[in-house]
Amino acid sequence: MKLDDKLYLVRFNTDKLSHIKISNPNVCLQQCQDKPCTRFCPAHVYDWDEEEKRIAVGYEGCLECGTCLIGCPFGNIDWKYPRGGFGVSWKNG
Ligand code: SF4
Ligand code: SF4
Repeated sequence: MKLDDKLYLVRFNTDKLSHIKISNPNVCLQQCQDKPCTRFCPAHVYDWDEEEKRIAVGYEGCLECGTCLIGCPFGNIDWKYPRGGFGVSWKNG
């Protein structure tokens, strides 16, 4: 099965509260030149907003892979599992 087909089986129960927070937006703006979060997240949760000069976080699409816990070179992402009953669920077939 191709990845696109597998992702088609993903279901989300979206919380109103984000389970992801950028700890210090100034670090993103002033210290992180490459902004690797905009590339390593498989769900494209992080996007650089050039107008607002900050990382926009589309937490609703998070696949809960945990990559951002180790991927941010400044440890600047405060990520927790979504509250019980919320978040992603996987269907096998
Ligand atoms: Fe900010 Fe970390 Fe993303 Fe860099 S990788 S832009 S420090 S959240
Ligand atoms: Fe993206 Fe994975 Fe982090 Fe969710 S846990 S925001 S899918 S890198």
